[in-house]
Amino acid sequence: MAKHILIVDDSKTVRNLVAFIMKKEGFTVTVAEDGLDALEKLYSRETFDLIISDVNMPRMDGFTFIRTVREQEAYTDIPIMVLSTEGQERDIQKGLNLGANLYMVKPADPERMVRNVKMLLG
Ligand SMILES: [Mg+2]
Repeated sequence: MAKHILIVDDSKTVRNLVAFIMKKEGFTVTVAEDGLDALEKLYSRETFDLIISDVNMPRMDGFTFIRTVREQEAYTDIPIMVLSTEGQERDIQKGLNLGANLYMVKPADPERMVRNVKMLLG
């Protein structure tokens, strides 16, 4: 069965682009508009194989989303890759400290994104 990726970004353009890139690689994708939407989608399924999350989003930002996901035992192992325009060292450290496995800064090279996703999926 194809690996299922949850893509979280408030930008429709980014969501569609990342979804397109991942679908082309044969992954199944679900998109969410912000952290709250992503949590609802996470809770409505058993799990996802990987999450790609933006940081700056309305209602619930990516850092809060990641912290909330990691606080729950069922989701401690799900790989999370941040994809954000926030590229300062303190933002990257914050994301990793909250439990993200990898932090990519936008604009990210699609091939590198795919390589990282495959690496995280092991
Ligand atoms: Mg955003």
